[in-house]
Amino acid sequence: MPIPASQPLPPSSDNAAEGAGGTVTDSLVEANQRYAASFTDPGMDARPVRRVAVVSCMDARIDLHAALGLKLGDCHTIRNAGGVVTDDIIRSLTISQRALGTRSVVLIHHTTCGLLGLTEDFRHDLAAEVGQRPTWAVEAFKDLDEDVRQSMQRVRTSPFLPHTDDVRGFVFDVTTGLLREIDPQD
Ligand SMILES: [Zn+2]
Repeated sequence: MPIPASQPLPPSSDNAAEGAGGTVTDSLVEANQRYAASFTDPGMDARPVRRVAVVSCMDARIDLHAALGLKLGDCHTIRNAGGVVTDDIIRSLTISQRALGTRSVVLIHHTTCGLLGLTEDFRHDLAAEVGQRPTWAVEAFKDLDEDVRQSMQRVRTSPFLPHTDDVRGFVFDVTTGLLREIDPQD
């Protein structure tokens, strides 16, 4: 299977931010200067006000704060490809709960996730291409609901997390913006 990263990207639908010959990062830095010009110190504590950590796919179509009615300072957002509960997600959740006071965990996968089309062949092809086996699993999945259940289970059974009684999992529909809750028992 070809490695997706080596395929050409589709043309961007919005190149406006990259005008004037700068890179996209240049445009981000410029945007930050405008942001900082009107920024006032909110005087917040590092501990999330609503004591919740949200673990989600990194998908560009999910605006977690808007979708969940969250404000700055409310929560931890922990994101990776797929919203899969890997060791590093457990690391972040452990720090979130033990050092920064969160109690609840919300897990969010979504429709048309990039990981749905992948298999562990991705990893084998990658190793063949670069001559080195990655130490990580791709964590691809075919069944969204089942993967949310597995993610909930990984959080609930982690020995490092003191708070596992409020762990809920959802699938976000990127076309409607709605969350669908996954029953851990199904
Ligand atoms: Zn995704």
